[in-house]
Amino acid sequence: MVNNKFYLYNTLTKQVDEFIPREKDRVSMYTCGPTVYHYAHIGNLRSYIMEDVLEKFLRYIGYDVKRVMNITDVGHLASDGDTGEDKMVAGAKREGKTVMQIAKFYEDAFFEDCRALNIKTPDVVEPATNCIDEYIKLIEKLFENGYAYEAGGNIYFDTSKLADYYALTGHSSDDLLVGVRDDVEADGNKRNKSDFVLWFTKSKFDSQELKWDSPWGVGYPGWHIECSAIGMKHLGEHLDLHCGGVDNIFPHHTNEIAQSEAAIGHGWCRHWFHIQHLNDRAGKMSKSKGNILTVSVLKEKGYDPLVYRMFCLKSHYRKPLEFTFDTLDNAKAEYDRLKNRVAAIADEGELDERAFDEYRERFIENVGNDMNTSLGLTVLYDVLKADISGKTKLALINDFDRVLSLDLTGGAKQEHSDELTEYVERMIAERAEAKKNKDWARADEIRNELAEKGITLKDSKEGTSWTKA
Ligand code: AMP
Ligand code: ZN
Repeated sequence: MVNNKFYLYNTLTKQVDEFIPREKDRVSMYTCGPTVYHYAHIGNLRSYIMEDVLEKFLRYIGYDVKRVMNITDVGHLASDGDTGEDKMVAGAKREGKTVMQIAKFYEDAFFEDCRALNIKTPDVVEPATNCIDEYIKLIEKLFENGYAYEAGGNIYFDTSKLADYYALTGHSSDDLLVGVRDDVEADGNKRNKSDFVLWFTKSKFDSQELKWDSPWGVGYPGWHIECSAIGMKHLGEHLDLHCGGVDNIFPHHTNEIAQSEAAIGHGWCRHWFHIQHLNDRAGKMSKSKGNILTVSVLKEKGYDPLVYRMFCLKSHYRKPLEFTFDTLDNAKAEYDRLKNRVAAIADEGELDERAFDEYRERFIENVGNDMNTSLGLTVLYDVLKADISGKTKLALINDFDRVLSLDLTGGAKQEHSDELTEYVERMIAERAEAKKNKDWARADEIRNELAEKGITLKDSKEGTSWTKA
């Protein structure tokens, strides 16, 4: 049962709305998955981290979530205007492999990155090439309802048939029209510049590897139709939540809404969640621009991938985030300090249920205020400072970590100078000797001397470990 209110910015209404799914206590959630022609860069992964927090938060406050994600392995062309080469074909050429080989390779690599970042795999993961029949059925429905037309061998969606094609973007300014953007080549077959391809039968690329039979000839689906059809296949005609990075708003999500609602004849998705971009100094990180940083690169440089998760959680998902190694180093220092403080908490005392509930409420209120993860972290720091038992602190930390997924109770993260390590270990050995000789005064003296230097000792069956605040 869900008792808490959750407020979330909705790109469709352009305001922070109370999140109310169609069915009580259940959420249907769709996520645009990766185009698997290259490694995911850490910008893509910012989006997947924030979507993961959103899904986990919904579960945390009691929703039963069904989340579906596609894998784009066909039909995503180099340009938003339905021209240029299929990104998958370009990727296969680049590597001298088949499209299916690179799809498998980069899909596996994507999920490996997700695992390293503690991103949960959605309940359903569906490669686009699995659902050709579904696209054909949906396009047939669009013909039946008068929204599709054939031109120059391709099947297009006629956007002029809709009263509010630009509902998601909020304005219909000319610069949004893909056909007139500088970087977009015009497709002369389109009746209206904003029309888009549903099915390519006459690809100008003979190298297109994957093609299927259809009522309109051999061809392949457009990118947008994939997400509408895969969403409907697994979640039916109503979606509560749809997510992606802000670059997906136009034209991808705009076109998804157009074709879905034209086919089903009613509203489709109530809440749209978009994550702002991760930029580096050269601008938006983008697979096609080649300025990509991956999880493997971070690992090679010695960073725990969860440091990057921390880096993302420290900022609000609706603000662009600039990546530099200096700011990542700050996140690393903070993450290490946090883990060390948690490792120093002794699991002792009684569980204070009142305090537990109070802090949990505060956490829900803060994260539930438009996914304010950095305020969620503030509540976590308040728990660390609170005058409550170690048992209560650890229970709260584990509880919050169901959403944050930072492995907070997974042990200390320390890198100390040799000098410090040598000193502390010498003192620990001396203390053990003092205890053996029942010299309790000297043992306490050593503990206090170390405590003054911010070093906490923890005794266990395995011996004495230490952490530094
Ligand atoms: P793609 O693999 O290009 O289809 O993109 C996968 C996801 O990453 C989509 O939700 C995009 O909107 C998102 N995305 C792409 N570039 C960035 C970026 N620089 N920062 C954050 N999200 C991004
Ligand atoms: Zn999509």
